[in-house]
Amino acid sequence: QHIKKYFPIKGGVFKRTVGQLKAVDDISLTINQGETLGIVGESGSGKSTLGRVILKLLEATEGTILYKDANITSMKRNQFRPYRRNMQMVFQDPFGSLNSKMSVAELVEEPLLVQTSLSKIERQAKAIEFIEKVGLRAEDRLKYPHEFSGGQRQRISIARALITNPEFVVCDEPVSALDISIQAQVLNLMKDLQEELGLTYLFIAHDLSVVKHISDRVAVMYLGKIVEIAPTSKLFQEPAHPYTQALLSSIPTLTKKKEDEPTIKLKGDIPSPANPPSGCAFRTRCPFAHERCEKEIPSLTAVGTGHEVSCHLHHG
Ligand code: SF4
Ligand code: MG
Repeated sequence: QHIKKYFPIKGGVFKRTVGQLKAVDDISLTINQGETLGIVGESGSGKSTLGRVILKLLEATEGTILYKDANITSMKRNQFRPYRRNMQMVFQDPFGSLNSKMSVAELVEEPLLVQTSLSKIERQAKAIEFIEKVGLRAEDRLKYPHEFSGGQRQRISIARALITNPEFVVCDEPVSALDISIQAQVLNLMKDLQEELGLTYLFIAHDLSVVKHISDRVAVMYLGKIVEIAPTSKLFQEPAHPYTQALLSSIPTLTKKKEDEPTIKLKGDIPSPANPPSGCAFRTRCPFAHERCEKEIPSLTAVGTGHEVSCHLHHG
């Protein structure tokens, strides 16, 4: 609730703080048990920072994080330990996030060593179980990460994240670095594992087409804020925010577009979060920007059941 994550901007000879980068700027959301909430935004929108803050891998500048009924926001390491194994992360880069000097068996077993008190024999048995669960062969467990393809490495990362039997997993662009042909395989694996293990996902992507089939709801982020959140089918059928509309019209489709379907093109690049535009942060790229947009920050307001949008066009 009301999560903010600001990073100081240092400048000048004395490296004094000269400003603040508002990576996450007052976000409130609920993730329901068993669901997948997709978070979509361009790079620089703050989505990875939000995921890390929720898992307490980064400390929130302001706001409250509730896990079930527990306020975990300012829990110290010891107090937080039982929660840590329930809240894991699958990282974006299957090439950089795995220690190249460790074998697959060691990589998959490591979280158990750090986060549980299982014996060595128990840990090794569990590692083999999870190596097979993610579709790798048990006999490959003594190999090293460089001996695997990108898709297989992502499977190793998934095994590492799931081996502690977490309830909640933040998936930070788990398929972005993979070939399109491999993406569907890894997404299907994650969906199957979700069902088998009863997982709740926060699924981060920069592409709406990636979250479409895995998410129950989708939140769209722009410069540290949620600009629209809705059940997935609603968001795809009736996108209300001009930014969501633009993201959707940039997805290539197999069927030709209807003549009267508006195509919204984004102007320019995402502005720096260190110096966001006044009023609506999207106004410098919005084809519908008007006077009010420069002066007034639109608030996230309900336009339908479970559908919220922050745009002056939608509320008076
Ligand atoms: Fe565009 Fe104004 Fe709506 Fe922002 S508030 S999305 S600038 S119309
Ligand atoms: Mg990122």
